[in-house]
Amino acid sequence: MPELPEVEVVRRGLARWVLGRTIDDVDILDVRSIRRHGLGAEDFAGNLVGARVLDVVRRGKFLWMPLAPPAEAGGTATSGGTSGVAPVALMAHLGMSGQLLVKDAGLPEEKHLRVRLTLSAVDDPDAGPLPQELRFVDQRIFGGLFVTSMVSTTDGHPGGLGESPLPLIPVEASHIARDPLDPAFSFDDFFAKLRRRRTGIKRALLDQGLVSGIGNIYADEALWAAKVHYARPTDVMRRADALRLIDACRDVMLRALDAGGTSFDSLYVNVNGSSGYFERSLNAYGREGEPCTRCAADPLFDSLSLIRREMFMNRSSFSCPRCQPKPRNGRW
Ligand SMILES: [Zn+2]
Repeated sequence: MPELPEVEVVRRGLARWVLGRTIDDVDILDVRSIRRHGLGAEDFAGNLVGARVLDVVRRGKFLWMPLAPPAEAGGTATSGGTSGVAPVALMAHLGMSGQLLVKDAGLPEEKHLRVRLTLSAVDDPDAGPLPQELRFVDQRIFGGLFVTSMVSTTDGHPGGLGESPLPLIPVEASHIARDPLDPAFSFDDFFAKLRRRRTGIKRALLDQGLVSGIGNIYADEALWAAKVHYARPTDVMRRADALRLIDACRDVMLRALDAGGTSFDSLYVNVNGSSGYFERSLNAYGREGEPCTRCAADPLFDSLSLIRREMFMNRSSFSCPRCQPKPRNGRW
């Protein structure tokens, strides 16, 4: 699964190429990639043809494009463009191998091309004619596209991180908490909820209802950076420790984003999936048996500071025994 920084790179790339453009045509090459659109292919296309992309928004790993409905007939459920129409969004679920590619029309089709959207022609004063196709490519078909309705956010803030402040969110994403990169993320809300849970901190970080977008890799990296053991109980967690941890989450994701963002620019098209070009500099994750980089700088460094790997929630957890010690007698 792509991690949050990968999805954010896709979001930025999409925003750059598709914002404000109208969808002129929809070509569904494989209906399995729109199976989450319950009303079928015709309804899917009817909602999109003539619609304009208002924004590209992300919350956690959810990615969507709010749409202005077709001005004239075309869609079934949402056509008309009147103010009484429920707002809709095109959701992009990347799954394991989903990619969104912006390409010039006429370029050879990818082997696993599933859906093609043709966008209105735009001649950019700087970049020239913009690529006209948004292609959804998905080798393993775990991902997909669907059109869904949006509801108001409970806190009145924008639905997620985007370019324009629209206080709406697709119903499918409305149950998940904001992620640490969201300008409307509230640490106080997070901390209050955290203290009410009786669980370990890593389990809490992976709980999308508490804070979204933190996967196994970034949880381990943030716990290492904040020097917190993954089993530390949340109900007695100190505010300063929780704050340090959320800052660390934000930090490691922004650093990954910087690296990924650079490679994206040079790629021209928007590529994503199980991306290998995210140069992650990891301190804990995947480094079993290697010296902890922080302890290695310490003159008192000894062999106790080799990264350990333990199974937790059926996944590997990596940590430093010395800077992230286990609880003794249940006390921290
Ligand atoms: Zn260490």
